Amino acid sequence: MSDSSSGRRAAPTAVDRRSFIVGAAAGLGLVAARVPLASAAPAGQAAVFATRVSGEVLRLKLRHTWTTVMSSSDVRETILCRYQRDGLTGLGEGAPIKRYAESAQAALAKLAPAKELLESGDPFRHQALFAELFRRVPGEFALKAALTAALTDWIGQRLGLPLHRYLGLDPDKTPITTMSIGIDTPELTRRKVQEAADFPILKIKVGLDSDETTIAAVRSVTKKPLRVDANEGWKNKEEALRKINWLADQGAELVEQPLPAAMQEDIRWLRGKARIPIFADEACLHPEDIPRLAGAYDGVNVKLDKCGGIWEALRMIHVARAHGLKVMIGCMISSSVAMAAAAQLTPLVDYADLDGALLIANDPYESMTVQKGRIILSDRPGLGLRPRAGTEGIRP
Ligand code: MG
Repeated sequence: MSDSSSGRRAAPTAVDRRSFIVGAAAGLGLVAARVPLASAAPAGQAAVFATRVSGEVLRLKLRHTWTTVMSSSDVRETILCRYQRDGLTGLGEGAPIKRYAESAQAALAKLAPAKELLESGDPFRHQALFAELFRRVPGEFALKAALTAALTDWIGQRLGLPLHRYLGLDPDKTPITTMSIGIDTPELTRRKVQEAADFPILKIKVGLDSDETTIAAVRSVTKKPLRVDANEGWKNKEEALRKINWLADQGAELVEQPLPAAMQEDIRWLRGKARIPIFADEACLHPEDIPRLAGAYDGVNVKLDKCGGIWEALRMIHVARAHGLKVMIGCMISSSVAMAAAAQLTPLVDYADLDGALLIANDPYESMTVQKGRIILSDRPGLGLRPRAGTEGIRP
């Protein structure tokens, strides 16, 4: 949408002037409302702001069987939430994470209290609304990521602003995203690396006895810089140090979560000896985790699914910066709905790993694009989502 990034709207006509005033009074102040707010209510009757919050499970088919130290799968389930009001639909997605005892079914079972809260609250007072959401719904961070993204997408659409513009971020400052290569046979590893030809940096899953074979397969077809992710797979600090420095010799520029999250003192020891930076992923879920990680890690991998969404992720980025840590923004395997939300924050981070939608075969939406690895944010309002060509998205 060509005019959406300008933040300007035509002055309201006489017919919707009252709507415009109501919109400004509601705290918008900056731009004319995109859809009349209250003028539909007949004179003498209270305006009705029907809001509907809903959620469903998305079944995503993987292009290749996805294997890491933790699991192997051909299908992943995520939660898709909608926030509907004033004729606009905001979308959000979250991927429940097994390691934290989350599942799509358990998340949907917690939708009712969240729905009641969000349907009765003022979306433009969303900070207080989300604080109450976190209080009422313990755990279920994927659900909260989906709900907060859906409402925030709606706000962006309502204001006619891409979310990154609403947040005051520079879309020219986006980083390159890596393309992840899951653990596989040497032959399939080579094929996946060849399929990732457009990406200048690859993220390779390691953490098993087969690491040397995996890296040999990668190096047989490319000399690109690598980032490696052990997903807590190495068993002790001596093994981890040997592998990390060997990987550094193989062109790895950083390593994620070499040892289990609980082995923080061993990771601190490792950091003093490793030749490449160490990033926390499984050790870093929420803003309050970050202060104790400083000194043991060089950076953190922030994921909306782990922390509960865009606004918590934004808080994590600022807390990490205050502790001198580098920031990566990552993802779970999800559709473009989740990628679009995380992508909005990429102008604030050093590294991005937002390839989750590229690993699936039935992505219903599109938003950001990737050119030679660089993230190009959509200038459409909100999360910038639209049904992928040839699909109708997901019908409510
Ligand atoms: Mg990781």
